[in-house]
Amino acid sequence: MRRAAQAVPVLMYHHVSPAPGLVTVSPESFRRQMAHLAHAGYTPLTADQFLGFLEGSYAAPRKSVLITFDDGYLDNYAFAFPVLKAFGLRATIFAVTGWLGDGPVRRDRLETEKGWPDCPNHRACMEAVAGAQADRVMLRWSEVEAMQGVVEVHSHTHTHTRWDKVHADERQRDAALAQDLADSRETLRARLGYASAHLCWPQGYFDARYQAIARATGYRALYTTDKHVNTGSTAPEDVGRIVIKDRRDAWFARRMWLYSHARWGRIYTALRGK
Ligand SMILES: [Zn+2]
Repeated sequence: MRRAAQAVPVLMYHHVSPAPGLVTVSPESFRRQMAHLAHAGYTPLTADQFLGFLEGSYAAPRKSVLITFDDGYLDNYAFAFPVLKAFGLRATIFAVTGWLGDGPVRRDRLETEKGWPDCPNHRACMEAVAGAQADRVMLRWSEVEAMQGVVEVHSHTHTHTRWDKVHADERQRDAALAQDLADSRETLRARLGYASAHLCWPQGYFDARYQAIARATGYRALYTTDKHVNTGSTAPEDVGRIVIKDRRDAWFARRMWLYSHARWGRIYTALRGK
């Protein structure tokens, strides 16, 4: 029998795209990173398996990993999905459910290898969303469906709003957040047929009240941008994630090793500070 995992690294990506940026990994680097996971024998978990690991109801294989993407960009479908599929890996996208559009799968562009004029950098994506042109740069529900079996989708709220910056009044803030989380959960249920237990905080912002609201909405696993190690004793409401950058293969391999080993990962994060 395989030994169970001590710690499970949760990788955080945003864009996989040839348009460079701070939160972008190039398609070449992404392929090499996924090749490393596949060849080193990592088992990518489903989000529910990962939650089971934290809750103690699932013995994750010794080398397990959770691969996550934030926001739900079209480039995830164009550049990450084919690679994940080719290596037999699976991943989770935390989608801003209100940004995903309708319409057919943009398969034609996938099949023409000439690149994707509409997979611009992060800043241009944010401008498109702000200018009511989210469909140019974000996933469609048809594309989410086309990725089923390889990619699962969970919540990154419905609107990606930092309600703490909108409402100074705590009651208004909490009510707006509660609505946002409920809208997202309901959208996932209506579109995909399941009630997700997984929520990722926009810009990593949360406090104890946010956590209570999320819990009351039905979310059990809450994903942060804190880079701590996730072990069987990590609270599901405090999932740590590692920002994956466009760096050398050795950088990626080292992080995978550290965050899979509870003790060394803890020492490393303590030395580095948060
Ligand atoms: Zn985000």
